[in-house]
Amino acid sequence: MAQSRPRMIATEEAFAIPEYFEAFKKLPTVSTHMGLRNAARFYGAPGNVERLTDIEVRLAEMDQYGVDMHLLSLTSPGVQIFDADMGTSLAALANDRLAGFIKQYPKRFSGLAAVAPQDPQRAAAEIERAMVHLGLNGIIINSHTDGKFLDEPQFAPILEAAVKYGAPIYLHPTFPSQTMEQPFERYGMNSAIWAFGAECSLHAVRMILGGVFDRYPELQIVLGHMGEGIPFWLYRLDDLHSTLMAFKKPPEDIVKLKRLPSEYFKDNFHITTCGMLSTPILNFCIEVLGIDRLIFSIDYPYGFTGKSTEFILNTPLQAAYRAKILHSNAERVFKITP
Ligand code: MN
Repeated sequence: MAQSRPRMIATEEAFAIPEYFEAFKKLPTVSTHMGLRNAARFYGAPGNVERLTDIEVRLAEMDQYGVDMHLLSLTSPGVQIFDADMGTSLAALANDRLAGFIKQYPKRFSGLAAVAPQDPQRAAAEIERAMVHLGLNGIIINSHTDGKFLDEPQFAPILEAAVKYGAPIYLHPTFPSQTMEQPFERYGMNSAIWAFGAECSLHAVRMILGGVFDRYPELQIVLGHMGEGIPFWLYRLDDLHSTLMAFKKPPEDIVKLKRLPSEYFKDNFHITTCGMLSTPILNFCIEVLGIDRLIFSIDYPYGFTGKSTEFILNTPLQAAYRAKILHSNAERVFKITP
């Protein structure tokens, strides 16, 4: 059976280094801030610290289900919750460690570099180091940084470096910022059940409507969870953006875009499958975005490897489509050797 399977590359696969957990525990707000408490809850689930940090434990689970490769990224919220110095040095340490795992197991691992947008210049330098010297495959940004989004001008060096060094940005969810969190503080909503997708999709839509992709037409963003709901909203984004632009008094800082919002989503974004193991949603996304925009992911260790692989292997799809989702789209986007 194993030999008839297409190569499986999973692309939203979290790892951590012990130094990250040590720094996390020392944060003064770790027990009072709802987002950090929530992250601690995920880290505290049985086995998760070991599954995040122990590469042999990970390989055993990959082997059990026939997963060929993990595209690794430092677990959310990652380095963005620390001050600029701590965030920057932890990112470099995590990236060095990541490059070591890949060197040890080049057929089993590839990786996305952590960067600390708190210091955009040093983040840009880390992108160069990660792409040119460490040979990593892109960068991970866990959505907002202290309530700031990538469409804001101070982050231009990061976007410029991502384009210059051909680094796709995986825009991964995190807990909402302090200006956004309050309405999510009920019914367990301040996590992956609702807040993460609401916050991350807000970030991506800000980048589209803020004209980021007119400024950086080559920039590529990757979103997990089947695009954080945005594929379902493309018609309405186009319709309302043109309606607002046509008003005699359009909203004050609305940006005149060269293209329709949906066109940027179709050309500048890829989406991955984790946590949305639903055939109607998969078919809808293929129809709306095209098969070249869908990439397999598990969300290890928070997502289930068995359920995630079974979904793509068993859902009715033509073989060529399954191969694109399971490996060839990831090989192209993240420059992974086929
Ligand atoms: Mn994830």
